[in-house]
Amino acid sequence: DLYRSFGLERSNSMGVNLADDDQLRQLAAQIDAAAADWRAGPLVPGAQPGGPMVEVTNPADRRQRVGQWQAADAATVERALANAVAAQPAWDATPAASRAAILEHAAGLLEQRMAQYIALCTREAGKTIPDGVAEVREAVDFLRYYAGQARQLFAPEALPGPTGESNTLQLAGRGVFVCISPWNFPLAIFLGQVAAALAAGNSVIAKPAEQTTLVGWHAVQLLHEAGIPTDVLQYVPGDGASVGAALTADPRVAGVAFTGSTDTARAINRAMAARDAAIGVLIAETGGQNALIADSSALPEQLVKDALASAFTSAGQRCSAARVLFVQADIADKVVEMIAGAMAELQVGDPALLSTDVGPVIDTDAKCLLDEHAGRMQGQARLIAEAPLGEGTAHGTFFAPRAWELESLSQLTRENFGPALHVIRWKASELDAVVDAINATGYGLTLGIHSRIDETVERIVQRAKVGNVYVNRNQIGAVVGVQPFGGQNLSGTGPKAGGPHYLPRFATEKTVTINT
Ligand code: GLU
Repeated sequence: DLYRSFGLERSNSMGVNLADDDQLRQLAAQIDAAAADWRAGPLVPGAQPGGPMVEVTNPADRRQRVGQWQAADAATVERALANAVAAQPAWDATPAASRAAILEHAAGLLEQRMAQYIALCTREAGKTIPDGVAEVREAVDFLRYYAGQARQLFAPEALPGPTGESNTLQLAGRGVFVCISPWNFPLAIFLGQVAAALAAGNSVIAKPAEQTTLVGWHAVQLLHEAGIPTDVLQYVPGDGASVGAALTADPRVAGVAFTGSTDTARAINRAMAARDAAIGVLIAETGGQNALIADSSALPEQLVKDALASAFTSAGQRCSAARVLFVQADIADKVVEMIAGAMAELQVGDPALLSTDVGPVIDTDAKCLLDEHAGRMQGQARLIAEAPLGEGTAHGTFFAPRAWELESLSQLTRENFGPALHVIRWKASELDAVVDAINATGYGLTLGIHSRIDETVERIVQRAKVGNVYVNRNQIGAVVGVQPFGGQNLSGTGPKAGGPHYLPRFATEKTVTINT
């Protein structure tokens, strides 16, 4: 077990039991109390505030103001880079166990203040309460996992062998790391990237997604409070075109950890390659066109439940989400009918209510792209169902979850990042062709399989070029340390987040050979 192999005593964070009324009432009261007018801005020692102010409104009701943040200007970015370069050697020289202890302390603080962070995720990112709980738990897990791994990996390893010399392998930080995180996991992925980079001895400049700047700011404050020096971890909110581009093009940056679109990852790769500097490291986790293959041995009730959870949880705004259900023709009519029935029951509305299954999408741009997709589907696909929008959704950026039946995967020309599911029928002789078509999208993130025939499962697993396969369950919510997460090809560079090979990518390796 990965946890034990890293000498971790603790297992994954338990979060809150949402089936326990007492725990739930307590949590709800704390979340309500956390309502505030949040503020954020650059956290860069010595910089003068200078960038534009940005208003934050609630995705569930755009009339409601949530807070305000100030973007970093060019001088702040420059100051952050200079600070990071100056601060890194001392941080790298700090024993890995001390760095790990700070991250573990932060994990404890985060668990204690879970409600405040859930409230932030709900109001700034439109996350439902269960999604908020999962977000905090995953963030806590990342902090503890990389801390535990750093303790183990950064102890110099003796490599005894036939040379008769003393050989050791020593890991150290690479230098300045830039972490660019997505809005769909504003706490978990944000802290995962930052924790790994810090644990390995890098100084870090964190640039959050603009849409979730308030969450990121509070996460950085927490790490500072836990003991990370303020020049070792700095915060530079702003847009990708100015702040992100300036950071990734700078020769002082040793590596970039990025989660977001494949196109942006390509742009970062080009910017890093064009620098007159050492070849930098890019760790990118990008998009998917994730499929779920069900054969006629699948249990329809379980299949429909897992397909809808995979497609619509987090309003479909996960790169792991199922976008295409390939269902074997023999059971397709029944499954399609059940999907329509289940979708009629989906509660779409205010994410702060526990009864809500699907909240809003992140912003107007996201909603426009989804509306455009729905327009394209009209005329070339059959609408299976459109979930009803609940009360109080008129002023939010909501997209009613929809399912369409398609003829072929080639009708989907891009990743549709929202609650949109597509169903395609296949016949028994077409299994390999289905997997080949999925591979041919070029993406390779998650794949769901519903089948009770072992040979079929094995055959699909062998043939599919994907990072995470889930059999007879939903295909979202990878658990840190036990389900390392990340894809292949257009879906990312690897190594997998929450897996044993992620942290070493943030480090340099030095072999020391002494003739004794
Ligand atoms: N790790 C998440 C999951 O397994 C998805 C991450 C993402 O959407 O970027 O659902």
